[in-house]
Amino acid sequence: MEIKTDVIIVGGGLVGLASALGLAQIGLKVAIVDVQVVDETLLPEFDGRASALSKTSRTMFEALGVWKDLEQHAQPISKIIVTDSELGDAVRPVFLNFDQRDGQQFPAAYMLENRFTRQALLGQVKKTQNITFFAPHKVIDMAAGVHFAQVKLDDDRVLSAPLVVAADGRNSFLRRQAGLKTVGWDYNQNGIVATIEHQHPHNGVAEEHFLPVGPFAILPLKQPCRSSLVWTERSDVATDLMSAGDDRFDYELKRRFGDHLGKIRRIGPRWSYPLSLQLAVDYVAPRLVLVGDAAHVVHPLAGLGLNLGLRDAAALVDVIADALHLGLDFGTVDVGENYQAWRRFDNLTAAFMMEALNRLFSNSSPGLRQIRDMGLGLVENSAMAKRFFMKEAAGATGNLPKLMRSPIST
Ligand SMILES: Cc1cc2nc3c(=O)[nH]c(=O)nc-3n(C[C@H](O)[C@H](O)[C@H](O)COP(=O)(O)OP(=O)(O)OC[C@H]3O[C@@H](n4cnc5c(N)ncnc54)[C@H](O)[C@@H]3O)c2cc1C
Repeated sequence: MEIKTDVIIVGGGLVGLASALGLAQIGLKVAIVDVQVVDETLLPEFDGRASALSKTSRTMFEALGVWKDLEQHAQPISKIIVTDSELGDAVRPVFLNFDQRDGQQFPAAYMLENRFTRQALLGQVKKTQNITFFAPHKVIDMAAGVHFAQVKLDDDRVLSAPLVVAADGRNSFLRRQAGLKTVGWDYNQNGIVATIEHQHPHNGVAEEHFLPVGPFAILPLKQPCRSSLVWTERSDVATDLMSAGDDRFDYELKRRFGDHLGKIRRIGPRWSYPLSLQLAVDYVAPRLVLVGDAAHVVHPLAGLGLNLGLRDAAALVDVIADALHLGLDFGTVDVGENYQAWRRFDNLTAAFMMEALNRLFSNSSPGLRQIRDMGLGLVENSAMAKRFFMKEAAGATGNLPKLMRSPIST
């Protein structure tokens, strides 16, 4: 038996869910397939990350009808500070300060725990009549025909649609099956993630400490004395730390965290994510397009990955809406190439920026440190440079898709 629909989205992660809502809004019938048990993805231990969401991602969430559920959990970032120090330095001088005065429209970004974002998106998907969720089901095959693609599930059911969207993450099965190549490398770094309670309030300040091995980010959560940590370590050190007892782990954590927020206590588990750069060379194959981490994985040092994935989703909605208005078959490679032309360059630019920053800072050479600190000093003293970086943080550069353009209501 074949189940016919308009678009099949493989992967019900944050990008797949947002894509489904956007496509449903333009009147398409959407099927999402995910291998995970949906309720398990909502458990606090499933994903410990909190993401920095740009202002334009917030606009998209408003347009998709999920921001009303998210606002109560979202911590506006009032200020970003950047330091560049050795691990043992008694004081970490602040080299860069971005605050309200530097932004066009404030705040440029919000911190949101991924579990709340997932919950809100799933809630909205459940309420949307023209979306059907197939889970837990693995996609085990896809075949592209002249007018339709067929997707086979692990229970032998077959879905068919003019277009399949691969939102199946960094190890995308569909990307590999379609023979779409990627370029990139492993950083030999892991991002250790944990939630920290501290004595003094964070006041909405996000901190990026560039330590020689990589960035150590302290990111403010909605509770005034709670922050999320992304602690970059060499992979072997991270493996060792993850298997260490609580005492040793917390000792190493405190050495890096410092005491500027008073006493600290780790709450909940620790997670470790391998970091890599991975860029698909092409985003399009017959009856298939890639979005989110299936298309691009970047270093998390500037909190861009999800924001880029959401922009993919919003751009895809625009491109498909245009094809529908012209009465075209939206699953053709020609239409897919319009989407690719829009998104590939933007994602590539962001990946290169992250790459340059990571290389520049994950290095303790004294000469290089002097040069980069001089560069930070120049940015700190230039209102124009600061405005540029705040616009980037807000995701307000480049050609914005419609879902990211509507005005913010509050
Ligand atoms: C430490 C860390 C911190 C980060 N911080 C930020 C941040 O602050 N801001 C930001 O913007 N980004 C951040 N990111 C990046 C962000 O988390 C990712 O870019 C984003 O989660 C990718 O979402 P996705 O939906 O594309 O992929 P995933 O979340 O990987 O979703 C893929 C889905 O596909 C499903 N799937 C896979 N294969 C199949 C199959 N064959 N059949 C059915 N289903 C399948 C999986 O079950 C999964 O649900 C961070 C990343 C890391 C590692």
